[in-house]
Formats: sequence, structure tokens, C-alpha cells
Amino acid sequence: MTPGNAPEPIGLCARCQHLRRIQSQRGSTFYLCRRAATDPRYPKYPPLPVIHCPGYEPAEPTSSP
Ligand code: SF4
Repeated sequence: MTPGNAPEPIGLCARCQHLRRIQSQRGSTFYLCRRAATDPRYPKYPPLPVIHCPGYEPAEPTSSP
């Protein structure tokens, strides 16, 4: 559905360390919030795009040692 080079319109989750992308065998991508496993305030699959989220924590940049 999303054109190849376009950024995914998922909002904050795109840069959040709690996001887990799930790729289905049909090629669809699902965005799972891992906070949902421990905190019922967060939906497992949040409505996108997420604009505001109190649980947002930026993913740490990958750096080589
Ligand atoms: S904590 Fe918020 S911003 Fe992070 S993945 Fe879950 S819903 Fe998205």
C-alpha cells in the first residue's frame, strides 16, 4: 500500500523503542506496541498515526563499539 520510498505514516511509533514491526506473509506490516504487554493503557496495535503518546521513548541510535 505504501509506495516504496515514502516514509511510513505511523507517527511517533516509528522512532519509539517500544515498537515492534511485524511483517505478515502477505506483505502487510503491523505495528505492535510492546508496552501493551505490561501496561493496559496502551493498545497492542495503536491507531496510527500516533501523534502524542506518554509512553514514547526514542529508540537509541545504533552505534558501533
Ligand atoms: S509507547 Fe507509544 S509511541 Fe511507543 S510504540 Fe507504543 S504507542 Fe507507539
